[in-house]
Amino acid sequence: MKNLCWIRRDLRLHDHAALSHALSSGETTIVFIFDKHILDKLKNKSDKRVTFIMQSLQEMEKTLQKKDSSLIIRYGKPEEEIPLLCEELKIQKVFTNRDYEPYAKKRDDTVAKKLALMNVEFETFKDGVFCEKTEVLTGSGTIYKVFTPYKNKWLEHFEATGNNVSDFECPLKNIRKFSHKKNILDYPWYKEIGFVEDAPLLTGGTSEALKRLKKFDKLMPEYKEARNFPAVDGTSNLSVYIRFGNLSIRDMIRAGISDRSEGAQTWLSEIIWRDFYHMILETHPYVEKESFKRDYDQIKWQGTDEDFQAWCEGRTGFPIVDAAMRCLNETGMMHNRPRMIVASFLCKILLVDWRKGEKYFAEHLLDYDLAANNGGWQWSSSSGCDAQPYFRIFNPYTQSEKFDGDGTFIRQWVPELARASKKEIHRPDPLLFQDYPRPIVSYEANRVRCLAMYSAALPKTK
Ligand SMILES: Cc1cc2nc3c(=O)[nH]c(=O)nc-3n(C[C@H](O)[C@H](O)[C@H](O)COP(=O)(O)OP(=O)(O)OC[C@H]3O[C@@H](n4cnc5c(N)ncnc54)[C@H](O)[C@@H]3O)c2cc1C
Repeated sequence: MKNLCWIRRDLRLHDHAALSHALSSGETTIVFIFDKHILDKLKNKSDKRVTFIMQSLQEMEKTLQKKDSSLIIRYGKPEEEIPLLCEELKIQKVFTNRDYEPYAKKRDDTVAKKLALMNVEFETFKDGVFCEKTEVLTGSGTIYKVFTPYKNKWLEHFEATGNNVSDFECPLKNIRKFSHKKNILDYPWYKEIGFVEDAPLLTGGTSEALKRLKKFDKLMPEYKEARNFPAVDGTSNLSVYIRFGNLSIRDMIRAGISDRSEGAQTWLSEIIWRDFYHMILETHPYVEKESFKRDYDQIKWQGTDEDFQAWCEGRTGFPIVDAAMRCLNETGMMHNRPRMIVASFLCKILLVDWRKGEKYFAEHLLDYDLAANNGGWQWSSSSGCDAQPYFRIFNPYTQSEKFDGDGTFIRQWVPELARASKKEIHRPDPLLFQDYPRPIVSYEANRVRCLAMYSAALPKTK
C-alpha cells in the first residue's frame, strides 16, 4: 500500500494518530502544504508564525533525512495539490488528523470528494483534542453548553476508558526512502511563499516543546496560584507548541496526570477548556462570526475607532492594559490573566465590539487558535456559552493591584512608569507622569455606559 500522511497543525513525528496508522498499513510519504488560502490572508509578510512552522518542519526534516527520507513540501491550494501529488506518487490512501475549524472541514470535504473520484481513500483521525463532540454528552445525548458539567463528564469518560492516554507509536521503518530537492532545509521556501524569516522568541519544534514540558513539570504543583500572575513564570508556555502540534494533547495530559497535586488538576482543567471550545466551534460554527448567545448581536457598540487604535497600540492610559498590549505587539504572546483584562476592557470599558479585538489577537498571537480565541473573547464579552454575566466588569485598576501588585509586569513593558512607586503604578497621576498617556476614558463613567448599552439590547431576563 502506498500511503500519504498529510500534516497540517500536527508538526511532529511522534504520538501522531494519522502517521501511526499510515506507517502501520504501508509505505508512507509525509506532505506539508503551505496553504495559499491561509497565507494570502496574512498581511504581515514577516509573520513569526511562518518562521515557527519552518523551524518545526526543519526539525522533522532532519530526523527524516537520517532515515534517508524527506518531507514533501508544496505551496498552493490543498484541494489541488493533494490530488496532484496522489497522482504523481500513485498514492492509494491519504491519512490525516481531523481539524474542527469551519475552513478546514470544508477543505477536507472537498479533498475527500476529489480523491474519491480518483479511487484514492481519505481517512481522518482524532488527534488534536482528547475528546471529540460525541464523546462527552449529557444524559439525554445533547451537547454541554456549560463548562463544569462538561468537565465532570470528560473526567468520567477519561476514568471509564481507563485513563488511557497511550501513545500512537510512529516507528519510521515504513517511511518512503527518497531525497526531495525542494526540501525545507535546502530550498528557498520563504521566497517561494512570499514571506521573510522573523524568528519568534520561542523556537519551533518538538525538542524545544519537550524541554518546556519538562521544565513545567517542576512548576506544576504551584500552578493553581502561580498561573494568575503575569510577572511570574507560573504557566507552561506551551500553547504555541500545542497549536502547531509539536506536542500531542496526550503528551500534555500524561504530564498532568503523572502529578497528583492540585496544580496538576487545575492544569488538566485548562486542557479540558481547550477541548470544550473546540467542541463548541465544531457544533456551533456560526460563532466564528456571531455571538453564541444571539441576543448579544443586538448590542449597539458605542466605542470609537480612535479608542480601539489606542488599545491596539498600548496607549490607553491604563497601565496593565498597555503593558499587556505592548507585550503582545512585541512578542506575539500574552499571559492568560492580561488576556482576560484587555478583552474585558475593550468590550466593557471602551465599548468596542469583541470581534475587533478577536481579529487583532488572531493577527498577532503566536498561539492563535480560532476555537480558544473565539471562546476567550466571547467569554470576556459575555456573549459566549458559559460566559461570565454581562454586569461583571473587570476593574483594570484592582486587577492590576491584585495580579501585578508590585508592578513588575507593567514596569517591563511601560518604561514611562519605571520609576513609579508600587502604589502609584496602577493608576498613575497624569501630572507626575507626563510622558505616559492620560486615560482615554473614565473607567467609572464607562462602566455605567456599558451596563446601559448591554441592558438596552438584552431581554430583561438575560
Ligand atoms: C481573550 C482570550 C483569547 C485567547 N486566545 C487564545 C488563543 O488564540 N490560543 C490559545 O491557545 N489560547 C487562547 N486563550 C487561552 C489562554 O490565554 C492561553 O491558552 C494561555 O494563556 C496559554 O499559555 P500557557 O501555554 O502558558 O497556558 P497554561 O496555563 O500552561 O495552560 C496549558 C494549555 O491549556 C490550554 N488552555 C489554557 N487556558 C485555556 C483556555 N482558557 N481556553 C482554551 N485553552 C486553554 C492551552 O493550550 C495551554 O497551552 C485565550 C484566552 C482569552 C481570555
